[in-house]
Amino acid sequence: MELKEKISRTFEERFGGEGTFYASAGRINLIGEHTDYNGGFVFPGAIDKVIMAEIRPNGSDKVRVYSIDIDEYAEFGLREEDAPSKSWARYIFGVCREIEKRGGKVEGFDAVFAGNVPLGAGLSSSAALESCFAFALNDLFNASAIDKFELARIGQSTEHNYCGVNCGIMDQFASVFGRKDHLIRLDCRSLEYEYYPFKPEGYKLVLLDSVVKHELADSPYNKRRESCERVAARLGVDTLRDATMEMLDAAKADLSGEDYKRARFVIGEKQRVLDVCDALTAGDYETVGKCMYETHEGLSKDYEVSCEELDFLNDLARRCGVTGSRIMGGGFGGCTINLVKDELLEPFVEKARKEFAERYGHEPKVYEVVISDGARKL
Ligand code: ADP
Ligand code: MG
Repeated sequence: MELKEKISRTFEERFGGEGTFYASAGRINLIGEHTDYNGGFVFPGAIDKVIMAEIRPNGSDKVRVYSIDIDEYAEFGLREEDAPSKSWARYIFGVCREIEKRGGKVEGFDAVFAGNVPLGAGLSSSAALESCFAFALNDLFNASAIDKFELARIGQSTEHNYCGVNCGIMDQFASVFGRKDHLIRLDCRSLEYEYYPFKPEGYKLVLLDSVVKHELADSPYNKRRESCERVAARLGVDTLRDATMEMLDAAKADLSGEDYKRARFVIGEKQRVLDVCDALTAGDYETVGKCMYETHEGLSKDYEVSCEELDFLNDLARRCGVTGSRIMGGGFGGCTINLVKDELLEPFVEKARKEFAERYGHEPKVYEVVISDGARKL
């Protein structure tokens, strides 16, 4: 059954009548990895996998909400001490609280929601959930007076303050600002953003989820950040955003081999995002793909955040003649994102399933995605 129909029936059964439909989307990041904390660029877009909700004010001070996918119901008030215990409900409660903290209004409502963003696969189902409700409550109770950037911040603060996830702004930003056939280059330093056309006719975007997550004993993320900060300090810049490869090479003798490699990746990645922007403007998807492979190479060899399974999937993409492939996300597991010619998609996916399963005992999960709109009223 279609998502909307399923929600509509359930709403009718639970609450009677009907409400207003809203949706928001998960996201991919085409390129620009480990750049956010270095003041660089990320380059995400919303996808055709959504969270959809039907919502209706109920005239009380209570929220009553049913999650179809988890098959659970939650009811909570809107004061700080009313926080629900179910983790999925905390995303919605958090959004309500963060709107009120910013002087916005939220009253009681009834809602039913469901989605098809895979959970915990690196496509940010949580941001889709937050931005769906943030957008909806802004429309229903605030005459859309809260601007879109603030809606993204409301989602981010929800993660920080109610879900224990200390995330950046990219996921919520992409989910709120996403636009069909466009990716968005976000400058993580100034928060300026620009849309670029992404309409790869003759190509598909497909994610291969390794379904592995290597938990490492020491904190590799903190160590990477420290390396970046050390090099920036040595080069006399605030962040590596302001460093060039020439500056780095000139200081090479004063840096540890490890720090040098880490910075080489970050500085290279900043340039690659800009190169991808130029390539997209020219409709040159072969260059986009080449940059994706370079990013993977850098993440694997210089930044050292890959793992055997992801290198295997990347190598397999190369062997199959896939246009572009790289790790998406922080690393040590999760997905590769692949830009694949239409005619190669089937043989590539088939080979990936087979060879990956032979080697690692399970198939990767496969998600085909199309760049689509973010938060919206339906
Ligand atoms: P992701 O990388 O997909 O964002 P998270 O762990 O951050 O993974 O968020 C997943 C959580 O978001 C789920 O555990 C659940 O609480 C909530 N969530 C996401 N999608 C749904 C859904 N369709 N129905 C109910 N809750 C959802
Ligand atoms: Mg999340």
